[in-house]
Amino acid sequence: MSRLEELKMLSDEELISRIEKLKKEKNAVILVHLYQNLNIHPVADFIGDSLFLAQQAAKTDADIIVFCGVDFMAESAKILSPNKKVILPEKMANCPMAHMADRASVRELKEKHQDAVVITYINSTAGVKAESDVICTSSNALKIVNHYQDRKIIFTPDKHLGNYCKEQTDADIILWDGHCYVHDRFSADDVNLAKLEHPNCTLLVHPESPKEVVDLADFVGSTSQIIKHIEDNIEGEKGFIIGTEIEISRLMQQKYPNKKIFQLAAHAICKTMKMTQLHKVLYALETETTTIEVDPEVADKSLLALNKMLELSK
Ligand code: 13P
Ligand code: SF4
Repeated sequence: MSRLEELKMLSDEELISRIEKLKKEKNAVILVHLYQNLNIHPVADFIGDSLFLAQQAAKTDADIIVFCGVDFMAESAKILSPNKKVILPEKMANCPMAHMADRASVRELKEKHQDAVVITYINSTAGVKAESDVICTSSNALKIVNHYQDRKIIFTPDKHLGNYCKEQTDADIILWDGHCYVHDRFSADDVNLAKLEHPNCTLLVHPESPKEVVDLADFVGSTSQIIKHIEDNIEGEKGFIIGTEIEISRLMQQKYPNKKIFQLAAHAICKTMKMTQLHKVLYALETETTTIEVDPEVADKSLLALNKMLELSK
């Protein structure tokens, strides 16, 4: 039996206790994205959306960052903290949207529009970040687009987030043709059905969703912003329909079991986010083999764009 198979046999309780012990011994910090399986939460030092986790990665003094999320998040952490060891417990955990744009094609588009500023969603490869002037996340995209609203903008790779910013700001934006398959599948039919089943509930959606869904929403925001809206209004509103990855609904239902909290559509599951499991986190900490490296030339250029985002997000 391999070490990984051995660890898989352990209970969550045992895994959590071993992870906690090893984390202290190795001076490691564990960052957990909100789409991760809920049973990972007990080992997290920080749980949040992409912006919050990037901010934590930039300022931690730990020796090791274990990123429970997907590839672009761990890559960003490595770029922001180049002297730290960054571990992605599940090497296959990638974000399909991030791989819908490549460095050479972005460079070609830049050559055609030399006056444009390139704003890239953090859900992108390090190579694409290196071609960008500034990075954004779903929680600061509007703020960053607004900052450059007098310039022509190339927005990569998410066409839905880019279009949402375009409509909110009237900025001149060239959209890359990428999308997140999890949010892209939400439709106006899903909304109409959910509203019929749960009348008078507030619809909250992530801006990675298509325009027809965003247009029907009562609130549009990042994962953390959706959670904050629910928590701020939990007593005042009749109920909530959540239009993002299913784990946010599970988290809110777990926290508020007596409140009306519904998922917009059951199909919204990010398969690669779910690949990270407790036994893999322990294995990763034990072996330190699933490390993330970024080519130094790419890292140096991407860092400028990531730092620009952090500066504009203050
Ligand atoms: P946020 O956590 O910034 O809302 O991003 C959602 C997402 O799709 C992460 O992959
Ligand atoms: Fe990528 Fe979408 Fe999964 Fe986020 S939810 S990691 S954008 S595929």
